[in-house]
Amino acid sequence: MLLNLYHQLRRRLPLFHQRMIVLSFSLLVVLLAWPQPRSVNLKLSSLLFAEGLMFSQRQSHLLASDDWLARWQYWVQPAAAEDPYLKMYDIVAGDSLSRIFQRFGFGYSQVQRIMAADESLLALDILRPGNRLTLQLDEQLQLLSMELYIHAGKRVLYQRDDSGEFSYQELIDEGRWQSDILLGEIHGSFYVSAKQAGLTDFDIANINQLFRERLNFRRDIQAGAMLQVVRSDNYVGDESTGLSRIEGVRIINRRQTFSAFLHSDGQFYDEKGESLERAFSRYPLQRQFAVSSAFNPRRLHPVTKRVSPHNGTDFRTPIGTPVLAPADGVVTRIENHPFAGKYIEIQHFGSYKTRYLHLDRFLVKRGQQVNRGQRIALSGNTGRSTGPHLHYELHINNRLVNPMTANIPLARPVPAESRAAFAERVSFLTDLMLQQSLLARQPEADNPTAPQ
Ligand SMILES: [Zn+2]
Repeated sequence: MLLNLYHQLRRRLPLFHQRMIVLSFSLLVVLLAWPQPRSVNLKLSSLLFAEGLMFSQRQSHLLASDDWLARWQYWVQPAAAEDPYLKMYDIVAGDSLSRIFQRFGFGYSQVQRIMAADESLLALDILRPGNRLTLQLDEQLQLLSMELYIHAGKRVLYQRDDSGEFSYQELIDEGRWQSDILLGEIHGSFYVSAKQAGLTDFDIANINQLFRERLNFRRDIQAGAMLQVVRSDNYVGDESTGLSRIEGVRIINRRQTFSAFLHSDGQFYDEKGESLERAFSRYPLQRQFAVSSAFNPRRLHPVTKRVSPHNGTDFRTPIGTPVLAPADGVVTRIENHPFAGKYIEIQHFGSYKTRYLHLDRFLVKRGQQVNRGQRIALSGNTGRSTGPHLHYELHINNRLVNPMTANIPLARPVPAESRAAFAERVSFLTDLMLQQSLLARQPEADNPTAPQ
């Protein structure tokens, strides 16, 4: 009936009005079909700023499973029982810890104490929709402990000790990795074709980065070139953690194949074992400065005198020393923290992330692409600091490592001792892609009436 009315109106109305009607009608359809605020779409939008976390579409199906229902009931029950000592809060876009604490009636000193505990982790600095806080209160309704749920594989527990200070503990479930083979044909834009094959923006940015020195995506890919990708997604139980990594990529032109494979050292090489990484500098500085405090997960904090991990390397840099990006990447955080001071985070392509704390001045903006060697900031003495220095952190696969000793890309071929293992992996992944693309072609042959 609605459609009938629409067609009648259409015949009588001028073009402009027709367009307005079509527009409002489509808007109505979009609004009706718009997902609930906590759906996957919202998480997808935090794309590059999600520290490489991508929430796969699959999650939306899993949410409906019985398993999830059981877990949901488990979470909801304590709240339904009106336990006055237990509070739960689901993060919405734009939330900050101090605003949430205000809502629960906690004073600023409690925020300060939690922030102090979080100084070396900085997990509470960026809260995202999908994160959840569970707060346990004491008899005076003061905060006893707090759990930050980041995803199914990662929670952080902040606990108060007898002195009233908080310390943190990361609760990590490695889960399992499940591989998927994604196939596509490239016509026109590589981006659009790759999206159609099921790749995420993050995957595509990584592939662009991997081949950027060998391949001009606009010029060198022929129409009809094949795209084959093996991607692994991380699950804890049936729930996606949003962590995902590319295991292998092949772009097959008529005469030439571009390939990239992830090796056990966390770096990408082509099928011959030549590195696709760009070298990563060991120091984020123009010259070496003395190390005033080394990476030490069991350090005594110089100010608080309690055991608190030192998650980076401190260089004794005078205020105003230029800080350089050790590799190409995208600036994902520009923040000012009461304890970490002014700090920057850079997501490098692949599995690397770096942080720079206690800065004096930022020279880049959030979202900005940076190149290796580019000045990103001037070092300083901001936040809780015992003197001018640069605190430098390196994260590989979201794990903190010692920046002075960790395995960083040196842009060298696969080391001789792991060549055989690498070759085996390459042929395994290549076979997977081949089998899958043969399978994908079969239905067409069996069913000649299938649309082209
Ligand atoms: Zn430090």
